[in-house]
Amino acid sequence: MSAQIIDGKAIAAEIRSELAKQVAELAAQGKTPGLDVILVGEDPASKVYVRNKERTSKEIGINSTVHRLPEETTREELLGLIEKLNNDPTVHGILVQLPLPGHLDEEEVINTISPEKDVDGFHPINAGKLLIGDDDAFVACTPAGVLELVKRTGVPIQGKNVVVVGRSNIVGKPAAVLFLREHATVTVCHSRTQDLPAECRRADILIAAVGRPEMIKKEWIKPGAIVIDVGINRVDGKLVGDVDYENVKEVAGYITPVPGGVGPMTIAMLLRATVQAAARS
Ligand code: NDP
Repeated sequence: MSAQIIDGKAIAAEIRSELAKQVAELAAQGKTPGLDVILVGEDPASKVYVRNKERTSKEIGINSTVHRLPEETTREELLGLIEKLNNDPTVHGILVQLPLPGHLDEEEVINTISPEKDVDGFHPINAGKLLIGDDDAFVACTPAGVLELVKRTGVPIQGKNVVVVGRSNIVGKPAAVLFLREHATVTVCHSRTQDLPAECRRADILIAAVGRPEMIKKEWIKPGAIVIDVGINRVDGKLVGDVDYENVKEVAGYITPVPGGVGPMTIAMLLRATVQAAARS
């Protein structure tokens, strides 16, 4: 038996078309959602991400403005721009593309974004709200996309064993909190976990967010498990996930491919947050 493939690309397209309708309704009320993205410097991957965010925003009718700033942008210039956007009522979402050049303090920059416009969900106020169960929180887009993919399998989450491999602030930790909120029993693994294969074998739902190509093996998978691969690794010019996809799909019940799984969902969740921010404004 081979796993059902979770088609993130198709699900993201469905979500975008639902959002396009909401954007049209908001526009009719004079509240066209606005998303401003700030890109500092010339990081090639960041440039691609920002271009995709701009294009998909525009496709569904969101007003997207990209502020492309030079590498040598000063702290004062960047924080000044964020303050200006915080105070602009036509801007509902602000996103600063990371990583920033070394002379800029990412934490300070994120803390400057108004929590009401922090559609990336990285501001400590939003991270804290998520932790205490406040539904108003903007949730980090990648873990929000992971949850949406699992929900759309139709398999109930409540009471299941969810194992998250990785504990970063942008993926692993918020993913763990999101699944806890859905009443799963959650285990978080990391580089000091003693017996990772044994932990993974207990997972009804396994989320891999490590950044190590094809690390998760077939023998680590409980038959029938849902396997969500967040990893994006470039190997010989090809993108691969953290899961040994070809072999794991023989045992898993559901699995996401890389590319075409979690990746497209991240942008869809960003657009959803921007529409929510505009609706609340
Ligand atoms: P980080 O590097 O911030 O975190 C990686 C985590 O994996 C850490 O918690 C680390 O543990 C853990 N880890 C590293 N090695 C091992 C190991 N051998 N065994 C167990 N755990 C280990 O990465 P991110 O969370 O930012 O990203 C993870 C992956 O997801 C990357 O491939 C990234 O490219 C991808 N990604 C994809 C996105 C998408 O849209 N699809 C968006 C964001 C990220 P420790 O804390 O102990 O160091």
